[in-house]
Parts: sequence; structure tokens; C-alpha cells
Amino acid sequence: MTRMSLPAPVARLIEELSRLPGIGPRTAQRLAFHLLRSAPELAQNLATALQNLHLQTVWCSRCFNLSEQDPCPVCEDPERDQDRICVVEEPLDLLAIERTGLYAGLYHVLHGSLSPLEGRNVEDVKIAELVERLRARPVEELILAMDADHEGDTTASYVAQVSAAFASRITRLARGLPTGADLEYADESTIASALQGRQDSS
Ligand SMILES: [Zn+2]
Repeated sequence: MTRMSLPAPVARLIEELSRLPGIGPRTAQRLAFHLLRSAPELAQNLATALQNLHLQTVWCSRCFNLSEQDPCPVCEDPERDQDRICVVEEPLDLLAIERTGLYAGLYHVLHGSLSPLEGRNVEDVKIAELVERLRARPVEELILAMDADHEGDTTASYVAQVSAAFASRITRLARGLPTGADLEYADESTIASALQGRQDSS
């Protein structure tokens, strides 16, 4: 006797969707059936967006920002202040600082923070790349714009220590950010005042 099971393409989609963070099997099923019942364009547009995600983006080889070109537009822009580098944990933090319109220097994206307890160590983030960059061209100011949490503090202290020889001044965003706050979710005026009130890192 034949027992009906899900057609293979549907099962496959559910399996792939379930691999995404925050999506359990039940949500994956709901999404798959939503796509099946919707106009085919919805699935097609999603597929195209997914395909282009990696094809049309790169990590900038200088600052490790997410970009459609390498070097990224910020690194390429001669009008940006080459003597200032702002160090952030994630690309979305960089965008949050850009939105304030108050910063004209360059960036360096670490892609994470140090958390020895969770197994995130120096080699897991782009700190060596930052030091190499600074060694090649020291800066007047290195701005540490880490999240206002324990990992952010640990990361900022470490970066300050290994960069000390290559920056005339190392500053950290002022403590306007609520403790534990993710920079990317802070509102513009909070980031703006944290940036303007930045202090020498101790
Ligand atoms: Zn760049």
C-alpha cells in the first residue's frame, strides 16, 4: 500500500528553512505552504534574492565591511578622513554610525566580540587584520565603538592594548548607551551623543 508523504521538493524546502536560526520545523512548514499557495513570483523573487546574496556581495578586503565592491565605497572615498578608524563589531553597527552623519573617517569591522567563555577568541575576529592595517598606516585616532556589554568591554580593552603603538589617540564611545545595549539597535541621537562625547580609552 502506498503511503502518501510530502513531495520531495516541499520536504527539501522545509528542511532547508529549518536550518535557519529561530525557525523550527513548524514555522518552516508554514512558510513552505505559504509559498506554495502564493503566486509563483513570490518564491521566484525569494530564490533570486537568495542566489544573489553571495554572488553580488563581498567583504571589503581593507575594513571587512559588507559591500557590493572591493574596496568598499567608504575605503575608496578620498574625502573620508584617512587618519581616523572607527572599530565596530558588526556591519550593522557601522551603518548605525553612518546614519548619524557625524563621522567622516574610516571603519574596521571585527565581525564579533571576544568572549572566551563562549569560545570566541582573538583569532575568531578581525583584530590581527586591524593591527596589520595600523602598522602599515598609523592613525591619529582609533575610535572603539563596541557594544556596551561585558564582551564589548573585553574587546575594547584588548584592541586598545594591541593598537596602542599605532594610534596617537584611542577613544571609546561615551557611556550614553544603555548598559548591555547593542549599538545597531540604539537610536540615532543616542549614538550621535555617544560619538560626540567619546573619551580617551584608559
Ligand atoms: Zn572598506
